[in-house]
Amino acid sequence: MDGFTVKNQIFKSKIRFCIADGQGRAWLKQVNPPNSKVCCERCLILSYCFRKRMVFSVGDEWVKRTDVPFKAKSDELYHKGTSTLETIMDMINQFPLKPLHLIDLGVMKRILKFLLEP
Ligand SMILES: [Zn+2]
Repeated sequence: MDGFTVKNQIFKSKIRFCIADGQGRAWLKQVNPPNSKVCCERCLILSYCFRKRMVFSVGDEWVKRTDVPFKAKSDELYHKGTSTLETIMDMINQFPLKPLHLIDLGVMKRILKFLLEP
C-alpha cells in the first residue's frame, strides 16, 4: 500500500520529487557533498582542483548516472552510505537540480560580470 492511515481512513500518497539544496541532497542520498572530487549528481565525471577551484575536464568522456547503478553503488568513490529513500524513489530523476545555485548564483553571475566589465 502506498499511503498512510489516519482514524481508519486510508490516504494514498506518492513522493514525486525531493527538493533540497546541494548539501541536503547529498545527505539525503548519502553521497559526496558538492565540491568533492566525485560530486556530479548527473554524470560520472571526475573533478580536480585548479587554482583553488573545482574544475571538470572538457575532454573527458562522461557517462550519465542512472538509478540502477546508483542503487548498486557501482561508483564506490561517490557513495558514503545507503539512503533509506533508495527503496521508494528514483535516486537520480526524483532529485531535481535547482537553477538558483546552478545558474542564478554561480555561472550567470560570472557571465554577467564578464560581459559588463569594460
Ligand atoms: Zn556531470
